[in-house]
Amino acid sequence: MGRPVLLTVDDDPAVSRAIARDLRRRYGEEYQVVRAASGPDALDALRELKLRGGRVAAILADYRMPRMSGVDFLEQAMDLFPRARRALLTAYSDTDAAIAAINVVDVDYYLLKPWEPPEEKLYPVVDALVEAWQAAGEPEVTEVKVVGHRWSAPSYAMRDFLARNQVPYRWYGADDPEGRRLLDAAGMGEDAVPLVVTPDGTPLAAPTTAQVAGAVGLATAPAADFYDLLIIGGGPAGLGAAVYGASEGLRTVLVERLAVGGQAGQSSRIENYLGFPDGVSGDQLTDRARRQAAKFGAEILSARDVTDLQVRGSARAIRFADGSEVAAHTVLLATGVSYRPLDAPGVAELTGRGVYYGSAATEAPACAGEDVYIVGGANSAGQAAVFFSRHAARVTLLVRGDSLARSMSHYLIEQLAALPNVYARTGTVVTGAHGDQRLEAISVRDADGTCETLKAGHLFVFIGAQPPTGWLCPQVRRDEQGFVCTGADLLVEGHRPPGWTLPRDPYHLETSVPGVFAAGDVRAGSVKRVASAVGEGAMAVSLVHRYLETT
Ligand SMILES: Cc1cc2nc3c(=O)[nH]c(=O)nc-3n(C[C@H](O)[C@H](O)[C@H](O)COP(=O)(O)OP(=O)(O)OC[C@H]3O[C@@H](n4cnc5c(N)ncnc54)[C@H](O)[C@@H]3O)c2cc1C
Repeated sequence: MGRPVLLTVDDDPAVSRAIARDLRRRYGEEYQVVRAASGPDALDALRELKLRGGRVAAILADYRMPRMSGVDFLEQAMDLFPRARRALLTAYSDTDAAIAAINVVDVDYYLLKPWEPPEEKLYPVVDALVEAWQAAGEPEVTEVKVVGHRWSAPSYAMRDFLARNQVPYRWYGADDPEGRRLLDAAGMGEDAVPLVVTPDGTPLAAPTTAQVAGAVGLATAPAADFYDLLIIGGGPAGLGAAVYGASEGLRTVLVERLAVGGQAGQSSRIENYLGFPDGVSGDQLTDRARRQAAKFGAEILSARDVTDLQVRGSARAIRFADGSEVAAHTVLLATGVSYRPLDAPGVAELTGRGVYYGSAATEAPACAGEDVYIVGGANSAGQAAVFFSRHAARVTLLVRGDSLARSMSHYLIEQLAALPNVYARTGTVVTGAHGDQRLEAISVRDADGTCETLKAGHLFVFIGAQPPTGWLCPQVRRDEQGFVCTGADLLVEGHRPPGWTLPRDPYHLETSVPGVFAAGDVRAGSVKRVASAVGEGAMAVSLVHRYLETT
């Protein structure tokens, strides 16, 4: 914890030194004494402290200063640190004016110069100031601070990014007093949000996720130019491959465009993963897997989007969105699937402003006491319903099919049935989302053609997924939905894929490009489960070894 600050401002260097000396002598162990030579300098110091999340216990300002009077300074200082206690230092001749100022800027005390002996004249006043400050209590904020608008998609995306990367942060509304103070300290207006302030006090106005990742200490650049194994995607398949690859001595780097964990990281409770009889949250599983991979020496890069894959002789090179590249002997495609968009008027415009893809756990507190709607009838929708039932007044599953049994596991249907505030509305499709600044209502149509508009503040969408493989070069063969074909599926009437140069068939998880493998949900025909993704990630590593031994 940083020590709270006692700030003194005086334009006379001798007085400034003397008061700082006296304050340090008595309070130096518990408080950091900061001195400034003018009001503007002191305001700069206060702005820096505000951004760093520091605390200011008391401010002692000279009354008569040339560039900015003590009264004017304290007035502005109060805007930044309203809880700091305040005293004016005055010469005898200024006493009347100083007393009058007490009413204007709510000064706690005025102190006459000189204050000798401090034991009698200075310390009793400062003791009273710090006691009053301590009694009011002011927490130190050491984590990342995010200032944004509650119903803004970029502000939501930033919170989601930090939460999914398990970076602790504190959220401030741009129109909350403390949010305004932070914007003011950073010299920014509301149009600069989201404003992200790092723990060392660096303000970032509307930054990209890659900028934030770098600023909060997540690795974003590869340490080497060349690896044995380059994994694209940090879901269970990619993390599984990183653990096995690195633990078996392969120089391994994993590249993730958002946050490790993938879809599994968004699951509120995974109940069917081996070894967790009481279930495990996606967050916990991800954190353990990430630490395990790092322990074995795998490099994990976050907020890096891979946009191209090229074959260069025996090397496989990938390009990032910013144009930089890294290469390896082998590549594992573990890019999973992304949510399928809900195609109804208004949905795209309100995404991040009441409409969310996935369970958006950061929204849970905002759902307290509200009606929540979840679109979808598969396990992911069911898990979300269980999760939000703990926060919302009422959760309604909007299911296109005529029954949940078609798409949801039996155990989840039973769990939902036992929850008094969860309802399933089958045979229903969402036909529109409405709202000005944020989602206010949705339109639905039932199987018999009845249309209805429902008041809704939160709509969570789980309607299936598609593989994000559009960026892959055409040599990597995919099926008509975009899933990557591997192994025996690549053989057509016993013939190897066009361009295949090796005197053997592709290995089980190998794509139509030798040395490029695919595992998990992105692979055509894979079982879409956490355990199978992890298993395929591990199996891909053994095939990588086989490939490296024979080429
Ligand atoms: C809410 C929810 C709950 C679920 N619950 C369960 C459950 O209880 N039990 C179960 O067995 N299964 C469950 N599943 C399914 C399971 O999570 C998936 O099968 C599993 O996560 C697939 O893992 P994966 O690694 O193949 O892909 P994903 O988990 O989809 O991970 C792929 C990763 O690749 C990244 N990526 C994509 N493209 C790029 C690119 N170009 N550059 C860099 N990175 C990229 C993505 O950002 C993502 O992080 C659930 C899924 C969801 C959505």
